[in-house]
Amino acid sequence: MTPDWTSRRADRLSALPPYVFARLDELKARAREQGLDLIDLGMGNPDGPTPQPIVEAAVKALQDSSNHGYPPFEGTASFRKAITDWYHRRYGVTLDPDGEALPLLGSKEGLTHLAMAYVNPGDVVLVPNPAYPAHFRGPAIAGGDIYPMLLKAEDDWLIDLGSIPDHIAERAKILYFNYPSNPTAATAPREFFEDIVAFARKHEILLVHDQAYAELAFDGYQPTSLLEIPGAKDIGVEFHTLSKTYNMAGWRVGFVVGNRHIIQGLRTLKTNLDYGIFSALQKAAETALQLPDVYLHEVQSRYRLRRDFLIDGFAELGWTVPKTRATMYLWVPTPPNVSSTDFALNVLQQTGVVVTPGNAFGSGGEGYVRVSLIADCDRLGEALQRLKDAGIRYNSMTPETVLSPSQR
Ligand SMILES: *Cc1c(COP(=O)(O)O)cnc(C)c1O
Repeated sequence: MTPDWTSRRADRLSALPPYVFARLDELKARAREQGLDLIDLGMGNPDGPTPQPIVEAAVKALQDSSNHGYPPFEGTASFRKAITDWYHRRYGVTLDPDGEALPLLGSKEGLTHLAMAYVNPGDVVLVPNPAYPAHFRGPAIAGGDIYPMLLKAEDDWLIDLGSIPDHIAERAKILYFNYPSNPTAATAPREFFEDIVAFARKHEILLVHDQAYAELAFDGYQPTSLLEIPGAKDIGVEFHTLSKTYNMAGWRVGFVVGNRHIIQGLRTLKTNLDYGIFSALQKAAETALQLPDVYLHEVQSRYRLRRDFLIDGFAELGWTVPKTRATMYLWVPTPPNVSSTDFALNVLQQTGVVVTPGNAFGSGGEGYVRVSLIADCDRLGEALQRLKDAGIRYNSMTPETVLSPSQR
């Protein structure tokens, strides 16, 4: 007899919240089988190729056999130097490449492992709700008690630090946050960063800022970085990724900068788990961080055009979607009385357009769907036309017009 391996999984796996994407994936697969032409705006996967100079640097580094062995645990010295040079150029902050910067196998890996390096079972971890899933799944795997900081539209999706009870703040070990935000596309003013640094210093909380969208900002807006704030380096680290800005999601390259002792804890865990990034890819990543700004401006204007196109299109269908200043997402309210899951499933079934239900990012995302700007304007136009043809407008859907589960 075969043992029931599912029930024998470790508790840390069963502690994970259910995976909302699973049902969507199933329906996507079924729609594809039926020959439906899907327009997938559900993922956070950039649609363009990696810039040619980066690919060329990788090819060249691949031919160099000195890159073929195990990479150094702490990353190559030249990539770490490229990271701290980039950081200085962008934010005017000087960091030590030996200890204040660590390359990662994508930032998701580091965000999750940081929780494993610092959270004991029962430790309180403060996590926004909604949030990027690694911010709550990492602490959940580590056995942490997650205190959800509910984000609200009326607060511009900023964390309300005043709503966190003192006894929770006193017990909290880590606070995760992320602006410009995935999924809400919200940005935070510098004063917010000052407040959160003061809060973390007061309660001695390890502050984790995820700045995945450091460079995907528009209309002259420059996102604030955590380490620009005086005193932040005593208590915090910031995660960065090359996936979004440089269309390098498949390469798995990110990094963390900040407090050297915090980074050292993460590094100690990682020396027991992995050998870091293939040295040839670190060479390519170094090239990415040294690309001239004109490249960034192209990426920014590509997403800005798509943002404007889609916001205007949604407006014609009765939706008011605020103009986002950063990220590759729109955070779109679902029609009144329709849950985000029902809405996303119906849109998929009726039009073949895939969007992500907001509750995939936590209960606080209910009432919204996330739409990724990962298709060109032609395809986005096609998506809008299909919504229009299917009669899907902001005010058109009532629970009665939504297909019942048995009809799906
Ligand atoms: C995409 C994304 C990441 C993941 O980045 P990788 O470096 O590819 O692992 C991390 N955080 C946020 C908020 C993201 O949107």
